This record gives sequence, C-alpha cells and structure tokens, in this order.
Amino acid sequence: MPSPISLDIIIVGAGLGGLAAAISCSLAGHKVRILEQTRTLGEVGAGIQVPPNASRILAKWGLMPQFQKVSVSPGAIRLRRYSDGKVLSEQPFVPDAESDYGAPYCNVHRADYHALLVSKARELGIKIILDARVQEVDFSAPSVTLSNGNQLVADLIIGADGLKSHLRSLLLGRKEAPYLTGDLAYRVLISAEKMRQDPALVDLATKPMFNIWMGPNMHAVCYLLKGGTIYNIVLCCPDNLPTDINIAPAKDGEVEELFTAWDPRLHKLFRLAHGIQKWRLENSREIETWVHQEGKFALLGDACHSTLPYLAQGAAMAVEDGDLLGELLEKIQTKEQVPDVLKIYEYLRKPRTEYVVKSSTSQRDVFHLLDGEEQRNRDRIMLADVVMPGFPNKWRDHGFRNWLFGYDTAKEAEKGWGRYVKEGRFWNSWSANSKGPQAARMRGEFRFSL
Ligand SMILES: Cc1cc2nc3c(=O)[nH]c(=O)nc-3n(C[C@H](O)[C@H](O)[C@H](O)COP(=O)(O)OP(=O)(O)OC[C@H]3O[C@@H](n4cnc5c(N)ncnc54)[C@H](O)[C@@H]3O)c2cc1C
Repeated sequence: MPSPISLDIIIVGAGLGGLAAAISCSLAGHKVRILEQTRTLGEVGAGIQVPPNASRILAKWGLMPQFQKVSVSPGAIRLRRYSDGKVLSEQPFVPDAESDYGAPYCNVHRADYHALLVSKARELGIKIILDARVQEVDFSAPSVTLSNGNQLVADLIIGADGLKSHLRSLLLGRKEAPYLTGDLAYRVLISAEKMRQDPALVDLATKPMFNIWMGPNMHAVCYLLKGGTIYNIVLCCPDNLPTDINIAPAKDGEVEELFTAWDPRLHKLFRLAHGIQKWRLENSREIETWVHQEGKFALLGDACHSTLPYLAQGAAMAVEDGDLLGELLEKIQTKEQVPDVLKIYEYLRKPRTEYVVKSSTSQRDVFHLLDGEEQRNRDRIMLADVVMPGFPNKWRDHGFRNWLFGYDTAKEAEKGWGRYVKEGRFWNSWSANSKGPQAARMRGEFRFSL
C-alpha cells in the first residue's frame, strides 16, 4: 500500500539504477522527477545479464511478459578451458533459477532493458527531464542547481549518476574519481544467423547458454540476445588503452592476435565481427557513507559501488538499491522518518554490494590463472564437482548462489522496517549479521583449495 504522505523526490541520472528507483518510489506513492544530463535517452553498449535477484523485481512490477519478449534465458553457465573449449564446470539455470528463486536468469540488449524501464516510468507519470546536468547540490534544502543555473527543490534527492558520479564527490567534499582496474573489455555483437552457416558454431548459435572461456590473464563471455538472433561477446583482458582514452575501436587483427592460442571457435567468431570497441573497466572505491548527514540525500548504483562485471551483477545491484529504497519509503508515516529510512537503506545495502564488488574482483583470480599448478588444481576441482564453500565456480556454490540470487528487496525492507518500528529508532549500533559461518564466508575472500 502506498505511503500516506507523498514526498517530492528528485533522482539524478536515468540509467538502469535511477529508473528502478524512480519506478519503485512512484509505486510507493511519491512524486518523482528524473534529471538526466544527456539530450536523448538510451543505453550504450551491448548485452547485459539479468540474474534472478533483478528479474524478480521486474516481475513484481508486472514487466515480465514484455521483458521475456526481448530477452533470452540461458540454459546454464558453462566454464570452459580457453585452448579447446572443454567444459570444466556447469551450473543449470533453466529450470533451476525459476524453481529455486522464483525468477528466471535472462540476457537482454541494454537498450531494450532501458526502454522497458523508461516506458514503465512514463506510464507511472514520472517526469524525465533531459539535458539537465546537475552541477551543485544543497544538501540541507535539499535542492540541485543545473548547469544552466536553474534550481530545483525537493524533499529528497537521490544521486544515481553512475561510475564517474559528480554527486559522490559533492557528498564526500573531495574529488572521488574512479580507479583503473587494470582490465578492459572488448564488446562484440555478431549475427547468429551467420554463425549457423558454420557447422562448428551451430551449437553456440542455437542453444542459449552463458559460456565463459577462462585463460591466462583473460576471459571471454558469450551469450545469445534478442530472441537468439544476436550473439554477444565480451573479451576481458589487461588494459592496453592510452591513459587519456577510455573507449576506442579495436584495430584490425588486434583481438585475433591477443587470443592467438584460444579455442578455434572463438577465432571463427572474431572473423564474423565488425566494429569491435574496447572499453576501459573502472571501479569506484568503497566510500565511508552513501547518505548525507542531513538525511535528505543518498547515492545508489554505480555512483557508490561500481564493480568489475565478472559476476554480471552491477546493474542488478543498482536495481536492487532502487527498489529497496522505494520499498522502505512506502512504509513511512511522516517526513521526519526519511533520515532514518536512508540510514536503514545504507545499513541493508552497503555490506551486500561491497561484498559483490570484492567477489567480482576475486573472480578475476579464478578466471585468469596462468597455465600451471594452480590452474590444474582449479580445473581438477571443477571437474570433480564436489561443491563446497569456496568452489571456484561461484554460480555453482549453493551458499553463494542462494545469497546472491535469493535476495528479495521486499522481504529485506520488511525486516529492516520491522526492527526500526520495534526499537523505535535507527541505532547506529545495529550490527551487521556478524555471527555464523555464512557471515564469516561473506566477509572473507573465497579461495579454493584442494
Ligand atoms: C562490459 C560490462 C559488462 C557489464 N555486464 C553487466 C551484466 O551482465 N549484468 C549487470 O547487472 N551489470 C553489468 N554491468 C554493469 C552495469 O552496466 C552497471 O552497473 C549499470 O549500468 C549501472 O547503472 P547506474 O544507473 O548506476 O549508472 P549509469 O548507467 O552509468 O547511469 C548514470 C546516468 O546518470 C547520468 N548522469 C551522470 N552525471 C549526471 C549529472 N551530473 N546530472 C544528470 N545526469 C547525470 C548519466 O548520463 C547516466 O544516464 C556491466 C558493465 C560493463 C562495463
């Protein structure tokens, strides 16, 4: 049921995180405006994976029928050896994602995902104001000043302005630029129809799978998109871009040369590719707080926890943030509760997202092992398939998978709010769930061992 009071909320940034927050806050009964710096709406890039923890939210908003028209559900994730493509470990997603988590694992083109959220936002009457770059924030009023000098006042301001967040720097009172991870991603789209003309590629082009080839210092991620008509390839490897450039076209033969010793099927795919682009992968550092002390401003999404894409969870985390915030704001009875709601939001979201960022980085160590003893151990453990905590295929480790995919924003909000009501206020001493083997596992870095 919507909150009895209606807040005036400004969301800065119409990315997937900002749109999700806008939809959830609007459904909670609040008036929402989104300020977006670009002149046209859209998403750059190619495919994106939408795991059950995010697709559950789309289903709650009634978007699943339209979403399934434009997405593909991979039957499983397959981790492969780089040189010959041998499958070392497999975790089924169909029907397991639906049967275990009540929501499917999907792959979709970013533009389709974004368009779906934009159309839901417009249907709810959310105003999306374009060409509106936020320059300054008054955290007390609260208000924002745009680069054209216009000032807009609200009850609550949410900074969803992405990896290079200007609002993060304003909140922290210092320039807080993203840092280089040392990796970059080549992104390629190929016609699946062309792939089907080559017998060696028919299997990849017809069976929807989430395939990862793991090799020395690099990995390749491939999956079908758009009803199986497009094949999406992401190649992650050490950063070779000049320092002042973040995106550039790949030179002819560049990818072929880098991946010389890799599965011949990958080379067949490269020959079908045109216009390959490479993107530097950057991360934001863990910051002390996401919420301003006046209690009228919070960050979400990549603005406060951008991650390497190695668990395919960055946007899912941004969508979870946005929805959890809306779920909490649905429960408020007075405006005075907003500062506490923001603290509860940060308390519930920060440990989870920080753990995902760490786990995505440690996933690189598993994927990128050089040929040698450690790699042979990894492969032996994967092939033996005795799944225990720390198993190198994280998607196959039940504890980790349940924690990642089983997250339900509505239930988390209910728990946080229930405790708040019972105790009468938010206590800074609310301690994170620090007991038990699950919590210990979640805090530590997973390392597999023999
Ligand atoms: C190669 C790669 C593959 C990935 N694959 C996956 C995947 O499979 N699954 C997944 O879940 N995630 C994936 N991610 C991560 C995902 O793309 C991001 O985490 C997600 O898009 C972040 O959304 P956001 O809304 O927080 O930020 P953004 O999408 O960056 O949106 C920020 C918005 O704010 C606007 N903005 C910025 N500054 C201002 C300002 N001052 N005023 C007004 N507007 C402003 C921007 O124009 C932009 O529209 C991947 C990332 C990469 C690089």
